[in-house]
Amino acid sequence: MYLPDTYLQHPIWLTIDVERVEDANFGITPKKELAIDYPAILDKWDELTLRYGFRSTAFVLGSFARRFPHAVQNLHQKGHEIASHGYDHQLVYQKPFEVWKKETALAKKILEDIIEAPVLGYRSPSWSLPFEKRYYEALVEMGFVYSSSYFPFKTYMYGNTIDKKHPFVIATPSGEITEIPIPKCFIPFSGGFYMRMLPLFITKRLFRCVTNQKIKPIIYTHPYELLPNLLSRFLSQVRLDKAYVLTFANTGESIKRFELILQEYAKGKV
Ligand SMILES: [Zn+2]
Repeated sequence: MYLPDTYLQHPIWLTIDVERVEDANFGITPKKELAIDYPAILDKWDELTLRYGFRSTAFVLGSFARRFPHAVQNLHQKGHEIASHGYDHQLVYQKPFEVWKKETALAKKILEDIIEAPVLGYRSPSWSLPFEKRYYEALVEMGFVYSSSYFPFKTYMYGNTIDKKHPFVIATPSGEITEIPIPKCFIPFSGGFYMRMLPLFITKRLFRCVTNQKIKPIIYTHPYELLPNLLSRFLSQVRLDKAYVLTFANTGESIKRFELILQEYAKGKV
């Protein structure tokens, strides 16, 4: 079973899905491009993780890498693993299979041309990869050796009800691939909305719950979650479907939370 170094070397696997806020398919439509300094946010991520001795895996969207190749190269040079988040963040199950395949191969090549090294990992946009063998077989054929596209909690948009907590191997006619699922303890807790909105004492308890079961917690975040007050700063510039307000609420809180969690793990308290 292949597991990336960033997973093996730390008590938590830190991951960041590198995309613009405009890319997220959550009912947010900017009236114009938002003036968000993504390279600066990624520098902040690098500083924060390094402060506690962590390196992360960055699942980068192909379209983001085209806009900000230097930011991607910079992350790579600082020792973060560069992996793929697909090309444009459209949900995989809404695309014809062949289109998804072509775009995913293109997105991988964009990243490899920038970092001049192979890209081994894939995470589908919004955990939307169908849990079907042909998709995993296609990933193997493209040269991916692991995926982290599996969210073991069914939501209105994504996720899966199959209960898997540990990384597992999927055998396909073209070879094997590891899937690294996001662990949960009754509910997911270690990223996105959950990480920002749950009370901190519950978050800490859930991290402990997973660690006590000898499962490695996985933090997943996004650059825009590391930007304080995203909504109030940009509200006048976006059309936001009311149903999705919570998706972008409380941003900036994530960075404080990560710091507290990383501190505890770095000290071996958990
Ligand atoms: Zn994403």
